[in-house]
Amino acid sequence: MSWDLSQLVKVDDSGYIEERMKAAVKEMEDFREKTRGKIVSFNAKQVFEMLDELDRLQLEYEGPFNYARLAYSADMNSDVNKHLFGVYRNTATAFMQAAAFVDLELGQLLTEKPELVNDSAIGEYKHSLEKIQRRIPHMLTEAEEQLTLAKDQNGVRAWSMLQGDWLSSQTYEIEIDGEMKTLPYGEIVGLYEHPDRDLRKRAHEIVFEGLSKDDIVWSSALRSVFTDHLTMVKLRKWLSPMTQSLIANDVDEETITALMNTIEKNVGEFRRYLKLKAKALGLEKLGNWDIDAPIPTDQSKKYTWDDARKLNVDSYTEFDKESGEWMNEMYERRHIDASVREGKRSGAFCATWHAGESAYVLQSFTGTIGDVYTSAHELGHALHAYLGTRAQKPTNYEIGSCIAETGSNFGELLLTEKLLGQINSKEEKKAILASVLDSFTGGAFQVSTRVWFETMLYEAIQKGKFLDGNTISDLWVKARTNMYGDAVEWLPVMRWWWTFKLHFYMANYRYYNYPYVYAGLFVFAMYKLYKEQGEAFVPKFKTLLSAGSSKSPRELAAEIGFDITTEEFWQKGIEQFKEFVNQFEETL
Ligand SMILES: [Zn+2]
Repeated sequence: MSWDLSQLVKVDDSGYIEERMKAAVKEMEDFREKTRGKIVSFNAKQVFEMLDELDRLQLEYEGPFNYARLAYSADMNSDVNKHLFGVYRNTATAFMQAAAFVDLELGQLLTEKPELVNDSAIGEYKHSLEKIQRRIPHMLTEAEEQLTLAKDQNGVRAWSMLQGDWLSSQTYEIEIDGEMKTLPYGEIVGLYEHPDRDLRKRAHEIVFEGLSKDDIVWSSALRSVFTDHLTMVKLRKWLSPMTQSLIANDVDEETITALMNTIEKNVGEFRRYLKLKAKALGLEKLGNWDIDAPIPTDQSKKYTWDDARKLNVDSYTEFDKESGEWMNEMYERRHIDASVREGKRSGAFCATWHAGESAYVLQSFTGTIGDVYTSAHELGHALHAYLGTRAQKPTNYEIGSCIAETGSNFGELLLTEKLLGQINSKEEKKAILASVLDSFTGGAFQVSTRVWFETMLYEAIQKGKFLDGNTISDLWVKARTNMYGDAVEWLPVMRWWWTFKLHFYMANYRYYNYPYVYAGLFVFAMYKLYKEQGEAFVPKFKTLLSAGSSKSPRELAAEIGFDITTEEFWQKGIEQFKEFVNQFEETL
């Protein structure tokens, strides 16, 4: 259950790995020396050769960088790992800094010769240049860009620092099992999912009561960040407050409008699920403190590592033989670190190993069903990596947030299908479906409320409204009501919900939210199409994952026959949601 990182390097020796990381910086600096100032006069063939050379450098040094990063995350107490990680941090930053001039100079080149993008000599790099090109009309002069960057650091970006620091400095008094406890913010929020309903309710009450007292701080911060963004919208000539994020996520307004319209038309389906969940919990109506509560179930069922391996390899194999073989290889070649050990990073992740056309997964496996799902999720990322690295160079494998979770969430659905086919107990089925539906509705519906809220705030400012705490809370309640209707009872203090959400305060990270909606609905749509088309769908899905970032999500979907700018496409995801809700209803 522990991984073998030696495959990443020619010699498994820390001295050698350190030397390679330093060599990477040296080579990138030499490249800069040789290339800087020249890109502006490059022709298409020279641009191709330069990008190709950069990709070669990436592949050449990826192994040692990955080794240092991964070894440290698996055992942060080891002195060797600590040392290597320190070197990694410095050299990886220096490596990226040395390459930073390329994008700037390419931007200048494309401003002067936009037609270059369509030159056949650019080959597979077309879309990566199109992405740079899309940003050009919104660039300020070099001096203005530098000034903005410098002033933002202690200006608008300081608000999110204040929000985070302020929040983490708060403590709350709460009675647990007859004893008064003082908990920091980070701990009391853990009670939101506690099996004890009254405790969940009190935790919400105490936290938001506390947050509401500082409404001057939260509203000043939010108002400044939102108003600053609107100023930048004008200066950078973005079409709308969403443009910056659309460019960053490589999507377009038409697609996101169709997506959000589909959600709006189906809020009734979400409310139906919430009412069924109330029934499953034995309640008349859900309180806001019940939305994320787990369905009580017999949690004693444990899975061994071998059970989990078999379940996951089988679920991928039933989808596609080759995918199943690759997932088996992940176990066979020991690319998964699942042991529980002190000093290991918490959570789970999958790291792509491009040069090895594979991936490495880290998780801490204790045998719960949740751990089996974590394996399925991370293996889905690995499948994405197996397909993408075989087909693309590193430049074309920079997966944006809208499609990053496609393989992983799809893998979870394959496991769900497998489990539902094996389990006879209604109770267990109910718990599995509720967990699938909770995670889907959390991403697709709950997060959509935040998209609406964000839009409302910009509109209010544009209309000249002053956003004090109560005005912001009124808008939040309005967005919330549009989504939840009367399906949930809200504690009065929940009108201050927006105060804690760090994302809202992060400058230059506007509309962080709709990619979650996109990802949730997209994968459900894919799964629905798989159920409808069977085997014929498999190569389409593999083509999609193979394409990396070589095309925009819209082009990618079009190539396999779907038009993501239509509500009809997104409705497929809702149809799948409805089917799971129906199955859930049958267990009640
Ligand atoms: Zn993931």
